[in-house]
Amino acid sequence: MSEGLLIIISGPSGAGKGTVCKELISMKLPELELSVSATTRKPRMGEIEGISYFFKTKEEFVQMISQNDFIEYAQVYDNYYGTPRSYVQNKLDSGKDVILEIDIQGAMQVKKNNPEGIFVFIMPPSFEELKHRIITRGTETKEDILKRLHEAYREVCSSRNYDYIITNDDVRIAAEKVRSIIIAEKCKLQRTKIDYDSYKEE
Ligand code: 5GP
Repeated sequence: MSEGLLIIISGPSGAGKGTVCKELISMKLPELELSVSATTRKPRMGEIEGISYFFKTKEEFVQMISQNDFIEYAQVYDNYYGTPRSYVQNKLDSGKDVILEIDIQGAMQVKKNNPEGIFVFIMPPSFEELKHRIITRGTETKEDILKRLHEAYREVCSSRNYDYIITNDDVRIAAEKVRSIIIAEKCKLQRTKIDYDSYKEE
């Protein structure tokens, strides 16, 4: 069985990468799954252990770091987030395509160790729109919002390290674009295993 694709979807806070990923998953591409990260952040209302995140204490998270249990991890604002290595590798080994929806620091770590990954940057439509989305999400304090806006500017500048850039003017269209990228990547010559000899005339 061939290994699945590793797709890294990243972008500034408030660019809507989470919503684009949800929309993409709802399109039910065969074999496509969203990875579940570990975090030290407290669960928000409606979030479910093992589905939204694996919720960890700081001690548990630090121990996982020391055991090399993460493909990447990063401190995002005041919490740690990380991609569990065995969780993702098992899925790839069984032929699943796995999406990592992670921040930019994490994406750059993955790029170093997994250059075969497909790196997609979700760009907010405009800074004004980004500001509006971060503020109206209403889940953070004023101080958090300011931190996220400052970070967002820096992050937009790092989009040049990615393979694909998608502006999220419309979630449905943005998800369609990611879907098209995945389909096209699967058709890439380097990823296909054609037995040319079987086409030879005897
Ligand atoms: P939230 O707390 O809103 O769920 O996520 C905050 C940020 O952490 C988002 O930018 C999200 O993409 C990022 N994030 C979620 N999981 C991971 C992960 O496993 N690794 C990294 N590096 N970032 C993550």
